[in-house]
Amino acid sequence: MEDIIIIGAGPIGLYSAILASLHNLKGKIFESQDTVGGQLSTLYPEKDIIDLPGFNVTTAQGFIDKLYEQYNSKENKLDLHLNESIISFNKVDDHFVVNTKSGSYETKTILLTTGMGNFTPRKTGCPNEDEFKNIVYSIKHKAVFADKRLVVLGGGDSAVDWTLMLEPLTSEISIVHRRNEFRAQASSVEQMKKTKTNVLTPYNVKELKGANGNLTSIVIENAETKEVKELELDYLVVNYGMVPSQNTFEVEKTGSNINVGEAYMTSMPNVFAIGNSINYPGKVKNITCGLGEAVVAITKIDQIINPDKNIPVHF
Ligand SMILES: Cc1cc2nc3c(=O)[nH]c(=O)nc-3n(C[C@H](O)[C@H](O)[C@H](O)COP(=O)(O)OP(=O)(O)OC[C@H]3O[C@@H](n4cnc5c(N)ncnc54)[C@H](O)[C@@H]3O)c2cc1C
Repeated sequence: MEDIIIIGAGPIGLYSAILASLHNLKGKIFESQDTVGGQLSTLYPEKDIIDLPGFNVTTAQGFIDKLYEQYNSKENKLDLHLNESIISFNKVDDHFVVNTKSGSYETKTILLTTGMGNFTPRKTGCPNEDEFKNIVYSIKHKAVFADKRLVVLGGGDSAVDWTLMLEPLTSEISIVHRRNEFRAQASSVEQMKKTKTNVLTPYNVKELKGANGNLTSIVIENAETKEVKELELDYLVVNYGMVPSQNTFEVEKTGSNINVGEAYMTSMPNVFAIGNSINYPGKVKNITCGLGEAVVAITKIDQIINPDKNIPVHF
């Protein structure tokens, strides 16, 4: 029987696992993907992060590498199960049974750090999209774009952030958005407009052209004038956001966000949720806010597991 099972090894799950080791809790951490790091490793590993304490600047993956190193440094580290998605859990007597495709595990408490769930990228919707190998939905290694012609699709923060990050490397870069207004931060959009980026709005993607698995151009149509353009490219970077496949855990939610009360306990006693999976008045969906929630939740879990223990506040 585990003290704690953590579901999701994004930054908040990983930090929770580190804290659980410091509190001497015995447990496991499950991640449905084949790597730790959540959104940072999957969506924007090479993005610069400038709002973390103790780092002037670090890449997202650099931060995850540090967290993972810290997790691994603990002799009593929680067992990490990669590629193992939690499908469900249910209360049995005074504990929980947590189920994956390959097994069931018993635990006294559960901490949900599931972020936006198991996510897959939203596609362009063009019928031949899956044929092409040079369409990417996340930036893993930016060096592959050096001296290439890029077209970025999307108008949100990550589309603009990626454009800003890749622009200096590329020989040509365009961003195509279906509206005139970008959803991204105005200051980033302004910064982008000062670069060589060819900003094309309001355009929709009409057709993908290429052969033998290689996309060579896209056809776009102006949403207002119906004018058509063809853009030649080496890579198409699609940033239409993610389609999360929501977890169906039986905890109360508002929309896709898990409701939490004191110390981030969900509607199910002894099941906690923190990080991007939750919302409450004043919540900020960023890394530092989630790290603070981890401190509160793990302390509370230690109190539940060890009611007579003098729970440490500092280590
Ligand atoms: C483009 C972009 C840029 C950003 N930049 C910043 C920034 O500069 N600074 C900042 O502070 N924040 C930034 N953020 C926000 C930050 O990424 C999130 O706040 C953070 O990722 C939340 O961490 P998390 O661990 O709660 O969730 P996630 O990172 O979403 O991780 C959740 C993990 O849980 C796993 N999971 C889900 N369901 C299951 C299941 N059933 N079983 C097993 N595993 C499961 C998922 O696979 C995932 O790995 C940015 C976000 C984006 C999209």
